[in-house]
Amino acid sequence: MKINMKDVDIVSHSLNSKFKFKCYKGISCFTKCCSNIDILLTPYDIVRLKNRLNMLSGQFLLQYTYIDIDEKTSHPFVFLKMKEGGNRECPFVYEEGCNIYTDRPASCRYYPVGQGSLKKMDENLKQPYNEEFYFFVREDHCKGYQEDKEWTIKEWRQDQEAELYDDINRGWKEILFRKNLPGLSLDEKKQKAFYMASYDIDRFSDFVFKSGFLDKFDVDPEKVERMKKDEVELLQFAFSYIKYILMMEQTLKLKE
Ligand code: SF4
Ligand code: SF4
Repeated sequence: MKINMKDVDIVSHSLNSKFKFKCYKGISCFTKCCSNIDILLTPYDIVRLKNRLNMLSGQFLLQYTYIDIDEKTSHPFVFLKMKEGGNRECPFVYEEGCNIYTDRPASCRYYPVGQGSLKKMDENLKQPYNEEFYFFVREDHCKGYQEDKEWTIKEWRQDQEAELYDDINRGWKEILFRKNLPGLSLDEKKQKAFYMASYDIDRFSDFVFKSGFLDKFDVDPEKVERMKKDEVELLQFAFSYIKYILMMEQTLKLKE
């Protein structure tokens, strides 16, 4: 979610940090947070949304999203397209609330908590790692902070199922923090491959199972069977494929 920095409480928090908050139908600000926003979609957000809407990923991307290329990294990012004009409302918000609530994107689950990552160095292992931190978004229209229900950030993440989304997207976030980032922006071919593998899971599925991919790469047959049945397994493989094409790790092996 793109957030106005004036609304961010810039103190960095841990999973044990506490806050008071409650959001419910009937609160005076109900759905006010669902317009005038830019929602970044993660790969698993798209899997959940396209299945919820009974669409192929390509159709979903075309109808509901737009692409923004990050200037520094040249990574393509996908955002939810808001309705045009007026308040730029989310296409899924109605008077009754969010009509895809159980499949809402990760950033809607986190709100009013924001999440960031810092790249750090493990001095013992001599390896970089990503340290996640949290912050609070305090927008004037959001009255949830005036309620008495207390949470730790850890409890909030569990309650909102944001943890599940983070676990599934973890491999993708590692790509965003790749250490060979400086000076290695993606050419058009890699950008397209990044886009397909990150967001267009149905096209990636065709690419793996219907092109000559499995003749070229040595993939464990049991894993292939799992990927055919389980989109999350296929998504994890897609992240490995991106790491391979971006030369981050030798995650794939060519057949002899
Ligand atoms: S997806 Fe749902 S919760 Fe998120 S902004 Fe849209 S209506 Fe609100
Ligand atoms: S309390 Fe905050 S998150 Fe809940 S509906 Fe109101 S503005 Fe949205």
